[in-house]
Amino acid sequence: MEISNLNCPKCGANIPEQVKRGKIFNCGHCDSTLVWPEKQPTVTLRYGLHLCPDCGADNQLARGFCRNCGVSLTKACPKCRDNFYVGDNFCPNGHDFVKEQQNFEREQRRQETLWLPLTLQKASEVRGSPEIRSYTVSGQFEQVFESIIQSINGYSWGINRFKVRKSDANVGYIMACVTGKIGDIEIRAYIQPGDLTERIVVLTCARDFPTLPIPPDWKKQVIDKLVAQLPFSLHTR
Ligand SMILES: [Zn+2]
Ligand SMILES: [Zn+2]
Ligand SMILES: [Zn+2]
Repeated sequence: MEISNLNCPKCGANIPEQVKRGKIFNCGHCDSTLVWPEKQPTVTLRYGLHLCPDCGADNQLARGFCRNCGVSLTKACPKCRDNFYVGDNFCPNGHDFVKEQQNFEREQRRQETLWLPLTLQKASEVRGSPEIRSYTVSGQFEQVFESIIQSINGYSWGINRFKVRKSDANVGYIMACVTGKIGDIEIRAYIQPGDLTERIVVLTCARDFPTLPIPPDWKKQVIDKLVAQLPFSLHTR
């Protein structure tokens, strides 16, 4: 929702630009920091130095979280990762937040489109006609990586070999591969790395030595069981 034709609560000057709820901006006349708080249904502008975009309370400059509602008052620059005030357009190192955010999202989409076909191809090279599944999961890389390592390791059917590998893939970023074994059944997990909040996880299940056939349902069951015991929910892609 956008509103125009408002007056600055500090100096009374007319604000010609459109006002977006929850978006901190400055009065063109007195330069006060202004906001129509996110949690304020009626069009009310607040002014101050270090405004909370959610509730509109003014805060001391040193505060990282709102004194009234606890919301974060900083955001991280997508380029240099420096934290700075949510209302500022440029980070302390001069990076344009909106522009860098767009670059970051473009790079995320690029990584996703390159990563999945490459990984599915690698997964299909596993011996013993693997069962392959791909999922999306929310979480930071280390968190997802650690959980999967623990789940394979702690698998109730027993593991006699366990291997973790992080290596450079040929497209220039890190590909994580976790391998665990249940008897002579090999489980692999490929986890999409990078600076994402949603990542792709590819799981494979196959027999290391394809001399003894295993029922196809068995491989499915192993993956189902693994997915069920992970501490986050995976969504089928
Ligand atoms: Zn003003
Ligand atoms: Zn607040
Ligand atoms: Zn920056």
